[in-house]
Amino acid sequence: MTTIKLHNTKTRKREEFVPIDPENVRMYVCGPTVYDRAHLGNARPVIVFDVLYRLLRHVYGPDHVTYVRNFTDVDDKINARAAESGRSIGEITAETTQWFLDDMAAVGALEPDHMPRATAYVPQMVKMIEGLIAKRHAYAAKGHVLFAVESYKEYGALSGRSIDDMIAGARVEVGPYKRNPMDFVLWKPSDAKTPGWKSPWGRGRPGWHIECSAMSYELLGDHFDIHGGGNDLMFPHHENEIAQSCCAHPGSGFANVWMHNEMLQVEGKKMSKSLGNFFTVRDLLDQGVPGEVIRFVMLSTHYRKPMDWTEKKREDAEKTLRKIAQLFGEPALSKPWPSRPSVSPPQEFVDALANDLNTSLALSLIKKYLKNHQESELAASLRLLGFYPDALVDKFAGVRMDTFDNEHVSGASVELRGEAGLGMNVHTLQNFVSRLQKVREEAIQTKNFTQLDQLKAALTAAGVEVRMSKTGVDLKPTAGFDPAKLESLL
Ligand code: AMP
Ligand code: ZN
Repeated sequence: MTTIKLHNTKTRKREEFVPIDPENVRMYVCGPTVYDRAHLGNARPVIVFDVLYRLLRHVYGPDHVTYVRNFTDVDDKINARAAESGRSIGEITAETTQWFLDDMAAVGALEPDHMPRATAYVPQMVKMIEGLIAKRHAYAAKGHVLFAVESYKEYGALSGRSIDDMIAGARVEVGPYKRNPMDFVLWKPSDAKTPGWKSPWGRGRPGWHIECSAMSYELLGDHFDIHGGGNDLMFPHHENEIAQSCCAHPGSGFANVWMHNEMLQVEGKKMSKSLGNFFTVRDLLDQGVPGEVIRFVMLSTHYRKPMDWTEKKREDAEKTLRKIAQLFGEPALSKPWPSRPSVSPPQEFVDALANDLNTSLALSLIKKYLKNHQESELAASLRLLGFYPDALVDKFAGVRMDTFDNEHVSGASVELRGEAGLGMNVHTLQNFVSRLQKVREEAIQTKNFTQLDQLKAALTAAGVEVRMSKTGVDLKPTAGFDPAKLESLL
């Protein structure tokens, strides 16, 4: 059996992974707060833990892994979004949840086994808070309930901070009702306009941290294997989850392994709206970047290192995936079709992933199998990593490598990228290449160029530069490219 090793934030060591129950390996990953589109950074933990989920399923069997990822659908950012847009909270969270699921499916992430919404678990949260008050780990004050950090001597162990360091370093909300400035909210009062639930402390709503403690307890029990999320969640969110869960269920242990992915940057800079380098997963998909390319680039950097999203990496990923699609697009009759690989992934490939998810090594093995034309090994490895050979053929084989370059397209091919190419539908443009070629042949034969001129004029009006030469037809979208106009010509 494969030995999986994972870096555990709690012990700061890479450890052999020994499941509590190999029949049911359990993992919880903190999910999104649903008020807007997922940005590119949000996709990183989803893809990283999706690879881990796939690896665990491969090693322990698909029916022996339980993966939970929540949706935080009660939050002040959601309330603010509802107030500014005039839409209802339910409408916003339902719409954003579906966006998230669609966007993450596009980058090849499997849906977790459970995707609990916080608002469906409020009674469980209230019960847990009552238990914490009864054990004197929490206290009610002015409609709030606070966790008393000094009641838990391990507080700060995950992130390696003392309570004094935390007070000095953190921007803590000082409230007159707090005994210690680090005490954090388990429950807070809601006014008539804010969502609220009845509770022993009046009408109110849960704090963010208690959600994950209550949902993980409900769905995975008081002791489970892996807890994950981005490293921005380590403090205070995960520290607080540990305090709540361990105090509510003394001696249980909560999560054995804590895993944190590093942050994503864009071209060496923090992604931010003011720098103009902030984009959502949907922005990229709409610009014609296939989800597989996003996934490939994400996996090219180890999850514990900061990841830099660059145009160069995107191009390289696209080239590699295109080559793979080409190889699979023309399978010899004697070879198995890639979607049904006859072999398991090579052990060296599984071992790369099992070594604390060394996805960059896994991708270099993929490139090796590609170079050596080891189709079965390639197909099986790709599938374990969440790439489906058939989908690659569908998405990437349509454009021929020999005619593909960054500048423009010739013959049967079209430009895929560049400012002007964003959002374009490659297949639509390809249709026009074939149509132009056909109309031109007819025009040459009939000596009637009216139809050809009309088609060229319509393409130009849609912002597509048309170049015709003896060797073929080149279409190049310009800055004024308007895909809608192009579609209307179909
Ligand atoms: P949020 O909705 O902000 O709570 O984030 C959802 C998930 O995305 C959390 O696991 C965060 O740690 C993660 N995340 C947020 N920003 C980034 C980023 N720039 N790079 C990687 N992960 C991120
Ligand atoms: Zn959480």
